[in-house]
Amino acid sequence: MIPTSAIHAAPAHWGPTLKARALAGPAEPDRAALLEAFRGHSDFYARRIGGADWSGVPPLEKAEVADIPVDPAIEVQATRTSGTTGYQVTICNSTREREYRRALLYRPQLFYALPDQVTQVVFVDGDWCASPSDSPKRFEYGGRVYQTWFCGVAADPGAIWQLLITLRPQLVRGIASGIVRFIESLSAPLKDVGVQIVGPGGESLLPEWRALITDAFRARVLDRYGSTETGALAWQCPHCDRYHANVDEIFLEADPDGLLATPLFVSSQPLLRYRLGDVVQWDTTAADCVVRLPTLSISQARRDDWITDGQGRRLSPLGFQFEALPGLKAWRLHQQADGSLQLFFEAESADTLRDALGAALTAAVPGRPVELIEGVWKLERGGKFKRVSSDLPAATNPSP
Ligand SMILES: [Zn+2]
Repeated sequence: MIPTSAIHAAPAHWGPTLKARALAGPAEPDRAALLEAFRGHSDFYARRIGGADWSGVPPLEKAEVADIPVDPAIEVQATRTSGTTGYQVTICNSTREREYRRALLYRPQLFYALPDQVTQVVFVDGDWCASPSDSPKRFEYGGRVYQTWFCGVAADPGAIWQLLITLRPQLVRGIASGIVRFIESLSAPLKDVGVQIVGPGGESLLPEWRALITDAFRARVLDRYGSTETGALAWQCPHCDRYHANVDEIFLEADPDGLLATPLFVSSQPLLRYRLGDVVQWDTTAADCVVRLPTLSISQARRDDWITDGQGRRLSPLGFQFEALPGLKAWRLHQQADGSLQLFFEAESADTLRDALGAALTAAVPGRPVELIEGVWKLERGGKFKRVSSDLPAATNPSP
């Protein structure tokens, strides 16, 4: 749609183009030309933009995504978002756009010191785990061949360990909390598996998660930041440790009410000033780095929902310290639309822990009916998993 996007190049040139641009630094986008392109997309955008300049165009909210017309001539592949902010939307991309999203996702790896043949294991949503003898998914990009095996975040940790110890991947990627859950539930050592880099993503990486992953794999942790709606937004750099933003492909505005994103490579269902809601700031000093893409810091990103107690007070999802209870192996908390709570848990001895867990939850969230359910994976939520989720409207706009 927007001529500046590298999506217009032949797919074999995507990697080299994205690398060259990262080294050169991005050009400032022509906002008037961008608005013109969006006006030309549909009446929806023509009406929305009217005669406004860039900052006068109202940010696009999640609830409005369904109203954006999708080009009927394009073979569209739809993806449901994880619903991290309380409910899900369907995002439509053409096949080429989806392939380009992968090129953008792999951009950080253009700067990793890895061999020409990379073995990687990726943690995805699900309870299934590949066997080492399965055929890997093969992908050529940036002068390397990637061979990928997948494991579900809810799969048997022993099976995942078997996959890792047999394949000895240089790279492990995937859902951050899934990697953490695997480490926490595994009793076998990981430090000798030979993993060089772990690239978690999909949710905000807590400092304690970073420390846990680094320590378990004895590997470098290089985080990624993105969303289902927009694709890869920023990535932690192996040279300077900061998060470089893909601003040449996704125009970003660090609005005080939450990050606004305009992907420049999407024409099937384009998003103009889409409000992601994460709070990020541009770094005020330039990174001392060969990569010239600007860097940002994430202060508050979508991860878990917030829980509301019987008095209407919102409670941070980070405030639940059920881990302190001995014998508890895993937990997930869900607040239903009527305000009642469901605590899913796994314990060495469920019967002994049930009362203590119920008491801890009631103390943490007073004034709400509580139901305890044995079996963490019984909580059926679409998309990638998270530990605290809510169907209450108040959970959709987390703030301190
Ligand atoms: Zn850097």
